[in-house]
Amino acid sequence: MFIANDNFTRLPESYLFSEVARKIKDYEKRNPGCDIIRMDIGDVSIPLAPVVIEEMKKALNDMGTPAGFHGYGPEQGYLFLRELIADFDYSKRGISNIDSGDIFISDGAKSDIGNLGDLFGRNVSIGIASPAYPVYIDAAIMAGRAGNKIHLLPCTANNCFKPEIPDKPIDVIYLCYPNNPTGVALSREELKGWIDYALRNKSLIIYDSAYEAYVRDEEIPHSVYEIEGADKVAIEVRSFSKTAGFTGVRCGYTVVPESLDFSFEDGSRASLNKMWNRRQSTKFNGVGYIVQRGAAALYTPEGRAYIKETTDTYMGNASSLRNALLSMGYRVVGGENSPYVWFSADNGMDSWQLFSMILENAHLSSTPGSGFGKEGEGYLRFTGFNTPANTSEAISRLKSWFN
Ligand code: PLP
Repeated sequence: MFIANDNFTRLPESYLFSEVARKIKDYEKRNPGCDIIRMDIGDVSIPLAPVVIEEMKKALNDMGTPAGFHGYGPEQGYLFLRELIADFDYSKRGISNIDSGDIFISDGAKSDIGNLGDLFGRNVSIGIASPAYPVYIDAAIMAGRAGNKIHLLPCTANNCFKPEIPDKPIDVIYLCYPNNPTGVALSREELKGWIDYALRNKSLIIYDSAYEAYVRDEEIPHSVYEIEGADKVAIEVRSFSKTAGFTGVRCGYTVVPESLDFSFEDGSRASLNKMWNRRQSTKFNGVGYIVQRGAAALYTPEGRAYIKETTDTYMGNASSLRNALLSMGYRVVGGENSPYVWFSADNGMDSWQLFSMILENAHLSSTPGSGFGKEGEGYLRFTGFNTPANTSEAISRLKSWFN
């Protein structure tokens, strides 16, 4: 008799973003013709860079020729892309201990974040910030790690939305900086505190740096490997989604250094790099050639200029939202080194009440903070990913409603 995985019964009924979309649709149905501006979206609004389109077209044409046809590619990704990543994202940033053999091309960060649990021993404890990107906790619950194996690390106004380093050993810790949903970034010194903790306790850090391209301040690291010793304890997950408009193209990468220093239960050395390679070769058939050629184009001068320009645009939106909310008396963080703005009315309203109030009065959607974990209760997240025109219209609506 087939028995279904009852870990699924421990999950919230629907994925947060599907619930937000359902509520907006419902409101639109009840109020035909109302024009809602989507400030909840985690999707981007600026199209792909011309250089990406050009390279993808060339790759598509190659695929129609006997000499240029590419069938199954290497599961870890084409070397041409892994070498560009190793060079531009690590070596040229002064990180000399990451090379192409440590890099695995993915179809985006979400799948890898969900799948990395395949590497964990059965009984590991897991530390997850609360609030957090929901995939960390949902993937752990699906894999049967619910209950006392999951330790939530509260991020509230009291600790400036940065989790405190635990006073006990936790085996796996998820960190995401610049953070989704709060928009808060960690300084090099703060990240060093986590790496030292992991080295002391032999913990694995999964460092989600999907928003690395938004970092502008010198003291904020782009990569976890800027911290000495991180290559012994950290896996870094990155994405071209929010950096280069690849949300619909699907490409990212995960760095699993060969130098990671962990063991199996019997004490013998476990190479997570080899294990991840084995896992990917078994369960994944690589990212399409055309997509990887498109991603490689991002490392040309035109591609890099495009990334700077688009991330500047989204951050300009986030910064205007931040200033508008501050001027209206909200408690606000984020919107600096990040496309996200996290705010609360500080008046006892819960997140869904605040969501409905702003939806009904200003016709703006947002993402309720409570959907990212109970410490997010009372907060909302706005994104800077809409167009500058829609963002200014959103700000005018907020201000006219407020006045
Ligand atoms: N990590 C974080 C923190 C995110 O916010 C997102 C997307 O919203 C992802 C990972 C997933 O990105 P991708 O589109 O590469 O799957």
